[in-house]
Amino acid sequence: MTERVIIVGAGHAAGQAATSLRQKKYAGEIVMIGDEAYVPYQRPPLSKAFLAGELTVERLYFKPAHYYPDHNVTLKLSTRAESINPSAHTVTTADGESLEYSKLILATGSRVRELPIPGNDLDGVHYLRSIADVEAMHKDFVAGKRIVVVGGGYIGLEVAAVAVKTGLDVTILETESRVMNRVVAREISQFFQNMHREEGATLELGRRVQEINGADGKVTSVICADGFTVPADMVVIGIGIIPNVELAEAAGLKCSNGIVVDEYCQTTDADILAIGDCTRHPNKLLGRHLRLESVHNAIEQGKTAAANIIGEPIAYNQVPWFWSDQYNVKMQIAGMSDVHEQFVMRGDPSTRSFAAFYLQQGKIVAVDAINSPREFMLGKKLVAAGAKIPIKDLADTSKDFKEMATAAIAAASAQA
Ligand code: ADP
Repeated sequence: MTERVIIVGAGHAAGQAATSLRQKKYAGEIVMIGDEAYVPYQRPPLSKAFLAGELTVERLYFKPAHYYPDHNVTLKLSTRAESINPSAHTVTTADGESLEYSKLILATGSRVRELPIPGNDLDGVHYLRSIADVEAMHKDFVAGKRIVVVGGGYIGLEVAAVAVKTGLDVTILETESRVMNRVVAREISQFFQNMHREEGATLELGRRVQEINGADGKVTSVICADGFTVPADMVVIGIGIIPNVELAEAAGLKCSNGIVVDEYCQTTDADILAIGDCTRHPNKLLGRHLRLESVHNAIEQGKTAAANIIGEPIAYNQVPWFWSDQYNVKMQIAGMSDVHEQFVMRGDPSTRSFAAFYLQQGKIVAVDAINSPREFMLGKKLVAAGAKIPIKDLADTSKDFKEMATAAIAAASAQA
């Protein structure tokens, strides 16, 4: 048969893989199978400008819809891949079509974690992951309505910020004692908590949602385990995502909190690669394995898989980075702060422009930059270099950050 790459999934990583294959002059067929109705699009704006009604659907597209026919990429949208037969090199779709591949790229992404409580199927209860999810929210997402946001992570807090700006009455319910518990230090959580309250949201910490009440099939209130009750016209649940590994698992590929790949996006099958949110991959720079939920990771793994397929492999080892927009604040995170020994703030949070550094054995392992793009850009380089700056210097805003960072990066490179 002719050379053919099949990409399962049509998200950001899939779009990048197809684009990179064509940029690198891959001459075979490319077939992309996605269960959503849309060409690959960017998800980050869904909980920001798209929810706010400031963007059309087309503005979300990774590439304009005509890119695919123009570059001989066959899209099978609104189509689910049901199974893979690795020995026959085939993918079977829900319509029963069986397609042969030379190389298969799994870009199956992730799905929302559902809240298994009574009332979660009432009209007015939403999750946020896709264009369709946000379009379903728009009719209730208007000034004067009461919205309850379940979960104080990225999604919940971004939705809350847009809702406040739109004029809704906003309550955030978070189980933990602080927001963004998973990703930032206590001091940064405190900053976001203060900001949401200053902007007019009600934030309830330590509240576990137990039930959603309704009338005539429509949500009316949210009830917590301690009896705390909040009236609601709509509920948005943002309590994390789960990687879609089932297809890979059923095909016998090794999975462990994600489809296991190497730094070339190769799975345990020689002709199957995997990219994006659904993968667990090594990062030599950080000396550990990661599963990342980020656009940067989707894009870089998309490029890596394409390079591997055309026979010019380049190992993927980069500093992870993330961002979130809430009100007038852009937080940019470089590195992984989950493992650290020391933490230090630089600047005054009340100005809404400051940074925070996480250190492990004296090395900077992560930076949270709040409205501080310079600290973010240099922070990425500091983490990549394994550079050291004493915490008393990091805390001292009278010392020029660029000078300190440049010297620390040079010192680390000289040692390497
Ligand atoms: P997402 O990407 O969906 O925002 P995160 O993992 O960043 O996911 O954040 C999810 C947040 O939801 C966490 O702060 C977590 O503590 C919170 N959470 C999880 N389960 C519940 C629940 N039942 N009620 C309220 N908050 C919850």
